[in-house]
Amino acid sequence: MSRIVMKFGGTSVANVERIRNVAQHVKREVEAGHEVAVVVSAMAGATNQLVAWTREASPMHDAREYDAIVSSGEQVTAGLLAIALQAIGVPARSFQGWQIPLRTDGAHGSARIASIEGDALISRMTDGQVPVIAGFQGIAPDNRIATLGRGGSDTSAVAVAAAVGADRCDIYTDVDGVYTTDPRIVPQARRLDRIAFEEMLEMASLGAKVLQVRSVEMAMVHKVRVFVRSSFDAPDAPQTGPGGLPPGTLICDEDEIVEQQVVTGIAYTKDEAQITLRRVEDRPGVAAGVFGPLAEASINVDMIVQNISEDGKTTDITFTLPTSDQARAIEILNAKKAEIGFAGLNTQADACKVSVIGIGMRSHAGVAAQAFQALAQRGVNIRAITTSEIKISVLIDSAYAELAVRTLHSLYGLDKA
Ligand code: ASP
Ligand code: MG
Repeated sequence: MSRIVMKFGGTSVANVERIRNVAQHVKREVEAGHEVAVVVSAMAGATNQLVAWTREASPMHDAREYDAIVSSGEQVTAGLLAIALQAIGVPARSFQGWQIPLRTDGAHGSARIASIEGDALISRMTDGQVPVIAGFQGIAPDNRIATLGRGGSDTSAVAVAAAVGADRCDIYTDVDGVYTTDPRIVPQARRLDRIAFEEMLEMASLGAKVLQVRSVEMAMVHKVRVFVRSSFDAPDAPQTGPGGLPPGTLICDEDEIVEQQVVTGIAYTKDEAQITLRRVEDRPGVAAGVFGPLAEASINVDMIVQNISEDGKTTDITFTLPTSDQARAIEILNAKKAEIGFAGLNTQADACKVSVIGIGMRSHAGVAAQAFQALAQRGVNIRAITTSEIKISVLIDSAYAELAVRTLHSLYGLDKA
């Protein structure tokens, strides 16, 4: 017997028929003898509709009322699923965030979870009931509903799993797992049976399509095993596969990954822009002078490369940021030109960051050199490089993005046989 949290996303609960299908998935786990709690999203599109109504009522609106409105989608699906479960003989009860309670901080609209009371849920589960929890919401210190930011029900699910000490948090979604790269670019991409928390976080853009990034951070901190699987699988399909699990990807601690590959996946982000400040005075505090004002404007800088000039007196600073922030960043920097002290500013849009990710890199030399050589052979020019223990990222022209991803994917033996 295990204790499992099952989370169903918007497409899985898009209408009453699909909610009945979800109930069958839950029933299967209950009948297998597991203790189960369920976390649900709003019906697909429901939250968007609620957000749109809020904006229509007034573009400038009170964040507390925004939360009162947009949290309602999950309340509906939690109640509907509880009814669908009861109708097939599975004792179930719906819970909203405040009833657990799941406490958050006061940042209405994008609140963070502060604590969850697991006892009431656990006693329901040990009594053979299935708590069906409205995801995406909690209660703030002001005693009002708060939502956790878009996609937040993944984070609710992981937090509930941590609070009840679940063996696993199963995320049922519209994809059947995490892939070695984007299958739309590389048809040979393979579904990973397992991926380490750290790797999943580095998969950034790729991973973010599957799970809210915050949920992965939380899973890593609390060591909650997260299993991503498709909600379109028939509820009565056989539940066996690699590692005793059905088809899907287990996001887990690296200790659980026995067959370690050097490289696990290739991720990419398009729409990166590059800014270079020429001949910046080389003295303590310049980097702070450049990046401080950008941070204040909530501009997220990614790669940073600094070169010392020949005379040793000035330095060139190159960095990347999302294209959508490029114009604003240039404006801010030009306004501070005298203060920062730089001679010129060059900028280029249309860049793409391609990253090679794998915890196996920690113990293997030469992974980066191989990548550079393979890219050179394809005539792909590298504009900037950054590395971490488990990741190598290169900045290249967007036009070469797909070629680079494909090249690296096959270079590291990730193509499916
Ligand atoms: N319903 C919320 C949203 O659409 C939360 C979620 O689905 O995770 O963002
Ligand atoms: Mg989602």
